[in-house]
Amino acid sequence: MVQRIIERGEIESLDHTALPRLHLPESAQSLFTTRAARLRDLIDGKVEGVASNGALAGYLDLMREVILAQAEIAKSLTDEDLAMPDQKSLDLALDHMMPPLAAQLERPASWRTILNQLMDKLSDEQHGVRPELQAVLESIRALSEDDLEDQANMILAQRHEEVNPAQAPFIAAALQIFWTARAAKLNQQKVPMLETFTLCPVCGSHPVASLIRIGGQSQGYRYLTCGMCSSQWHMVRVKCASCEQNGKISYQGLDPIDAPAPPPTPVNKANDPRKYVRAETCGDCQCYTKIFNQEHDYNAEPFVDDLATLTLDVLVSELGFHRGNVNPFLWFGETE
Ligand SMILES: [Zn+2]
Ligand SMILES: [Zn+2]
Repeated sequence: MVQRIIERGEIESLDHTALPRLHLPESAQSLFTTRAARLRDLIDGKVEGVASNGALAGYLDLMREVILAQAEIAKSLTDEDLAMPDQKSLDLALDHMMPPLAAQLERPASWRTILNQLMDKLSDEQHGVRPELQAVLESIRALSEDDLEDQANMILAQRHEEVNPAQAPFIAAALQIFWTARAAKLNQQKVPMLETFTLCPVCGSHPVASLIRIGGQSQGYRYLTCGMCSSQWHMVRVKCASCEQNGKISYQGLDPIDAPAPPPTPVNKANDPRKYVRAETCGDCQCYTKIFNQEHDYNAEPFVDDLATLTLDVLVSELGFHRGNVNPFLWFGETE
């Protein structure tokens, strides 16, 4: 038998195909449409691994309206709106291992136009009149450009104490439309991996939650999902998404009250809704990140699944852990 010698470059390319390190969103419109449909199912209690929580229903309904508006706006965006960086800037980012669409560094003004479109949609008749919502939107409209950019910076940096918790979900929603649509335009091979795994390699923002994916070459691997541009990047399992330590990791689950009883002899290890969501806690930094497992729910959608599993946050915080990263649609004021 002749042993085949594999060249170094060949090994790297094999390795590359074996594990897709990054999944970019396919299109912002389809991402938000899918997200809104998933949230509908969560609200209606159709997701077995997530018990519906009546106390959250009003808030989740509003967020679903926001996501539907995001999908509508994403549909009409032009290349001009997206203001993609030129090839030279993209090459420079690759050479320096920097996120090509760094949200903190360069924010074309068109994101503010998108924010205005979003607020108009949420104010029109179709979306109904909610006096409290309209008051928040008015307060955003009253911000100067500088103050608005400042809020965007604080949201992206997750500086809780500087963020207005009522305004933030809407400002974040506009940033998401802009960055998700731009991320979908990138060439995956031209996105560098960063030295840290705790920030998005596409836009430099924080992850919202992690997902164990199934299917193809990503089978069984864990990906962190960006809370802004919706890209997913690979991070090894059993590692803290906040401090990258791996010595004191444990998992905290939440059995939904109305989950069906387990069968006496499990025939199939997959498709067990009770194992769908876990909090990955880290004893080194006392933070946690939720981890959703597609093996147990194919339709996993980390961003809204995170919102709908607030009960798990309460449970884990009672054990003394803090969220490693904020969900940009849910901010708690300092006093709460
Ligand atoms: Zn991102
Ligand atoms: Zn940690």
